[in-house]
Amino acid sequence: MNFQNTPEFAQQLDDQDSLKHLRDEFIIPQHRGKDAIYLCGNSLGLQPKAAADSIAAQMQNWASKGVEGWFDGGDPWLAYQQQLKGTLGGLLGAGEKEITIMNSLTVNLHLLMVSFYQPNNKRYKILMEAGAFPSDQYAIESQVRFHGFEPDDAIIEIFPREGEYTLRTEDIIKTINDNASELALVLFAGINYYTGQFFDMPAITKAAHAVGVYAGFDLAHAAGNVPLQLHNWDVDFACWCSYKYMNSGPGGISGIFVHEKHFGNNKLNRFAGWWGNNKATQFKMAKGFDPEPGADGWQVSTAPILLMAAHKAALGVFGKSAGIDRLREKSLLLTPYLEFLINGINERKGGELFRIITPAEASARGCQLSIICKQNGKAMFNYLSEHGVIGDWREPDVIRLSPVPLYNTFMDVYRTGKLLSEAADQLF
Ligand SMILES: *Cc1c(COP(=O)(O)O)cnc(C)c1O
Repeated sequence: MNFQNTPEFAQQLDDQDSLKHLRDEFIIPQHRGKDAIYLCGNSLGLQPKAAADSIAAQMQNWASKGVEGWFDGGDPWLAYQQQLKGTLGGLLGAGEKEITIMNSLTVNLHLLMVSFYQPNNKRYKILMEAGAFPSDQYAIESQVRFHGFEPDDAIIEIFPREGEYTLRTEDIIKTINDNASELALVLFAGINYYTGQFFDMPAITKAAHAVGVYAGFDLAHAAGNVPLQLHNWDVDFACWCSYKYMNSGPGGISGIFVHEKHFGNNKLNRFAGWWGNNKATQFKMAKGFDPEPGADGWQVSTAPILLMAAHKAALGVFGKSAGIDRLREKSLLLTPYLEFLINGINERKGGELFRIITPAEASARGCQLSIICKQNGKAMFNYLSEHGVIGDWREPDVIRLSPVPLYNTFMDVYRTGKLLSEAADQLF
């Protein structure tokens, strides 16, 4: 599309946007009495208007039924998560039996490594992207140590080439092949939180499988952001959080994917709990864990219904969007529009004040742009904040901005570009 740097153009795109009604499903934070420009959905998605009522309904269930709420009424808690799986499966490209909703993300990463990282003396290494989210790094280090290995030896991190910011798929595949005989697991983000790079998940999975290794993904920044096909890509396992692009509330509930082909695999260890037991016999309280078939067999603890109620409301908004593919179409205009405006500032100023390190190809990114400010980065960021743009700042010099198709407008993006342009005039 031929973008234009005018408010009329942005307004026209908003008028033509067939998803524009979805913004009204969210509560927009306020800045000096007006809607803030919220570009931080990569960190915490906005609150759906329906969330409070959804939680209140379960509070009411609890009030009126007490313990009977587990079994009783239109929404028995025992089966509560089952009603969320259809929409979630659509976002992830997963069958309902392949997903289960539970715990928090890092906890789930640990539980999945218990199953899928079973090193021996020959094959014990984990391959991951360098600069992964710290929680993932800590989880992986501690898993490696738990098995008696040293992180420096057992973790292979892939770095970008000299002078580059993101990884080339060919380099990832080569590293997998070069380390084939020692690898036990390939564990990547779907989208790296810092650079916004969307990795070629099918290619990574295929390369891992070609050397006989499982491939797993942390989809914290991918779920609800880009269309995924976990089942068809033959991904072994994945986990995500629901509070970023899935708008399910601070510390909201996480979930896991386990590919159907592993359902009968009893070589996979697991740390079990009663909630993962065969539903038919769970309340017999008998000795001997008998897992529920499917991903639900990885459940550990009693379902946190209030968190799931927020998740249900948030997924309901996705249900109204006619699907992730339609959202992605809008995203593929919103994010390039921001990129166009930023590049325009560089051109106007005759130098690269801003370097966008997120890949330019649509297939290699989602909503987010990560922007290195060559000078005065913090002051730039503060200028945005003072003028009502909520983005996020990463030391030493990166601003991350994520226009989200569910609730951001082209006018949000236009205004952000204008503010960045003003800041550039003041600070350079
Ligand atoms: C946001 C994020 C986390 C956070 O994990 P929690 O357990 O929910 O605190 C972990 N990993 C990645 C890649 C993330 O983006």
